[in-house]
Amino acid sequence: MGLNRTPRTLRNVLLRFQACGVNRQYVGGRRHFLNFVRKSKPVQFGGSTFLNENDLFHPFSESPFTAIKARGEAIRSLAPCPVCPSSHGDHSLAHNTLAAKFECPDCGWPTHCSRDHWEIDEEHAKYCSRLREVNEDEHDLRSGRKLHEFELPGPQAYEEAISFANWDLFWYTRGFPSMDTERSRRHASKLLTYPLTIGSVLHQNSGLTLSNNRVTPEGSRSLAALRTMLHVRPGAPDTEEAGAAKPQMRIFILGARAESSLPPHVWEQFCMLFPSCHFHLYFIGPQVSLPRPPNASSPKPHTSTQPPQVTLQTATLSGEQQQAYIPNVYEPPTPKPIARLKRTRSSLELYGVPSYTVPYTPQLTITGMQANYAEVHAQFQDTFDPYTDVFFLFSPGFGFPSPASVSDDGRPSLQIASPNEWGPVVPALLATRCAIFVTGFSPADVERDIRSLEQAPGVAGEFEWVVTPGENPFGSEKWEVADFDPRVMVKTNWGLWAMRGKGREVRERN
Ligand SMILES: [Zn+2]
Ligand SMILES: [Zn+2]
Repeated sequence: MGLNRTPRTLRNVLLRFQACGVNRQYVGGRRHFLNFVRKSKPVQFGGSTFLNENDLFHPFSESPFTAIKARGEAIRSLAPCPVCPSSHGDHSLAHNTLAAKFECPDCGWPTHCSRDHWEIDEEHAKYCSRLREVNEDEHDLRSGRKLHEFELPGPQAYEEAISFANWDLFWYTRGFPSMDTERSRRHASKLLTYPLTIGSVLHQNSGLTLSNNRVTPEGSRSLAALRTMLHVRPGAPDTEEAGAAKPQMRIFILGARAESSLPPHVWEQFCMLFPSCHFHLYFIGPQVSLPRPPNASSPKPHTSTQPPQVTLQTATLSGEQQQAYIPNVYEPPTPKPIARLKRTRSSLELYGVPSYTVPYTPQLTITGMQANYAEVHAQFQDTFDPYTDVFFLFSPGFGFPSPASVSDDGRPSLQIASPNEWGPVVPALLATRCAIFVTGFSPADVERDIRSLEQAPGVAGEFEWVVTPGENPFGSEKWEVADFDPRVMVKTNWGLWAMRGKGREVRERN
């Protein structure tokens, strides 16, 4: 039997997670020597720029796309030269550190203060090939080529089983166009990571099971409860008609950011995994994307399937804050406002916070609320049911220092305990008995969040594991690079774990 006999204390779970070995070998890579690829001038057609696939590399300052040029400018003003501090022989002399104005010719990112410091930096080789990959991916997204990676399939024939073993088997069994290159895989996995992370853990064909030691016996009961609602009786066809009498499933995505600006037709891909279910997705968080005001200057119609653009991070950390937050962490940017659809309506009166609801299809309703979840919990408090409701927190940053509150010793509180962030929220979620799924964007990020549970009032000792921490097969394969320091690179939804309130057994339902 694959059942783990060691008690699942927080320490044991962490030790097992670290023993996977992924933690220590996260950064690696080689310097690229692809500069011989001859450059051709980008072709202009009626104001749009087209790049061919041999011409995707451009230093940021020479990019044909203004958005990439602007990002380069932002990085030049934010990122410090990594060589400056050590060349002065004293790491505390931060004011002698110059900004990264010099662009590495191999990756095109602003990385050092000068060519001299770039030349003596042995460390940069660890990052350079990845940075070059991101440079080319960003140009490819805007190259004007037909992005077949974003062509999404329609409903699944009910007799065709979907595999959730990994991206490749999923794409194949779901009838996606074939992803021939690593670049295509990166684009498609970034677009689909949020809907597929949820779908792959909830679905009865999930790769996370009791037998591979990721799902605990308690967790398998939580998942079984949800799956009795998500699927139909064995043998019965899992079709729309079969769902007529089923209650709506509610998925609460708290602290939502980029996922709240994904076009609804991308979320429809999640619904198509459960053809007999009706879903209500709630995006709740201070950085949730709301529809543009109806009379705002006309944006381009939202017809593309492109993932939300990475917005500039200029405002996230001021120079002084960066000093205080030495754990050099990546902060996902706040997405831009989303398009207003025909049936989008305001929900301000209903929830008392800036919000909208769109009944997108009979199978999918989406609500977004720009508020901390603590402000609206009271409205839902008495309605939770572990059979129909589930929480997802994508990279919540439990273990990050709070920018807004300090603890008794004068240091910033961790966000898990801070009254402004997750302090009042997580204990309230544990009390619902519903499963709470959490992702992190690197091994260090997952570990930092889990360690923070140890001390948090109302959380430590109050939860049990549903899924033990480990890699998420449906994480994005694309590197996200921090503008304040291009050495900081993460992958969206790299890792996954889940918990629920302790000692509150999900009752059998007949
Ligand atoms: Zn320097
Ligand atoms: Zn480089």
